[in-house]
Amino acid sequence: MFQVHGYAAHDKHSHLVPFSFERRAPKANDVVIEILYSGVCHSDLHQARDDWGGSIYPMVPGHEIIGRVTQVGAGVHKFKVGDLAGVGCLVDSCRHCPACAEDLEQYCENGATVTYNGRERDTGAPTYGGYSDLIVVDEHFVVKVSEKLDLKAVAPLLCAGITTYSPLRHWQVGPGQKVGVIGLGGLGHMGVKFAKAMGATVVMITTSPDKGKDAQRLGADEVLLSTDPAAMKAYANRFDFLLNTIPVSHDINPYLALLRRDRTMAMVGVLTELDPPPAGVSLILGRKSVAGSAIGGLRETQEMMDFCAEHNIVSEVELIAIQDINQAYERLVKNDVKYRFVIDMATLREPS
Ligand code: NAP
Ligand code: ZN
Ligand code: ZN
Repeated sequence: MFQVHGYAAHDKHSHLVPFSFERRAPKANDVVIEILYSGVCHSDLHQARDDWGGSIYPMVPGHEIIGRVTQVGAGVHKFKVGDLAGVGCLVDSCRHCPACAEDLEQYCENGATVTYNGRERDTGAPTYGGYSDLIVVDEHFVVKVSEKLDLKAVAPLLCAGITTYSPLRHWQVGPGQKVGVIGLGGLGHMGVKFAKAMGATVVMITTSPDKGKDAQRLGADEVLLSTDPAAMKAYANRFDFLLNTIPVSHDINPYLALLRRDRTMAMVGVLTELDPPPAGVSLILGRKSVAGSAIGGLRETQEMMDFCAEHNIVSEVELIAIQDINQAYERLVKNDVKYRFVIDMATLREPS
């Protein structure tokens, strides 16, 4: 057993506070990772505040984890002590259902085990995430990390990165296509970088007029202000694919009007119901589709990590001390982050 330190939410109303807990001793296939950096996803906030219901407390959030391997079980093949390692949103799945058999563990038909706010399959013990100094994970759910990238900026690839990379690949985004990324936050800024690297013409669709310059620096060819009805009208029927990262319920009908006939908008942001719902006419006229996509499987997550190393893609981050996590949550709610907070886990060991 390891005695681990971290930060936890104890209910949906209170701040995250220091918390000590135990992690299992490594089993044959386990990798023990000393955590260096942990990204702060909007999902951490949703779950700490129980926006989706069923939250398990105390909760140690964090599913964008970068660290170094300090110990390996006897059956581990992929990692040795001293290697860099990444852990994303999943730490286990059934390994035998049709989805798992196709390396799509995120869609495990028996329910994948999430990195935090989940329960271990064998013991039922709660899972605790990356806002902590150490984690123990089966090697199947650990990805290799290139030594050549800026590690603090790599952490967000484990969720924001794969969640945008996977739908762009699934809907075969590439040269000659006009792709719109809706919402320039943690997910959105990675979506812009990936869509550009895949060869598409990228339009950043934002509610924030001041983010235009940043969007272009990140790779967007054009910027569309979604609050400007005339601009939205000028882009009607122009897009081959839309990636919608907006984190809250909203009216998707104006965005559906932007799609060309037979094209798709993939939703990755809102898990709750859409209000107002999509109107039939928004889909019927133009044979349009609304789809959804969840993170990515482990094979594709490794593919994305390798793609980032090859194309020199990382996240734009603001490094914070763990002691500042509650303030970071407040700023996330106010849409005041450029474009991902990452916790320097050294501040847990030696407060700054
Ligand atoms: P984020 O950093 O807060 O970014 C969200 C962006 O959406 C904001 O920067 C803002 O961009 C836009 N936005 C915010 N509120 C809006 C509103 N009321 N109306 C229109 N646009 C709004 O969040 P994130 O970490 O990227 O996460 C986004 C969502 O994805 C969260 O709900 C998260 O839980 C979810 N998520 C899903 C998956 C999955 O597997 N599908 C994985 C990870 C996260 P502009 O200022 O440019 O408008
Ligand atoms: Zn996430
Ligand atoms: Zn499965």
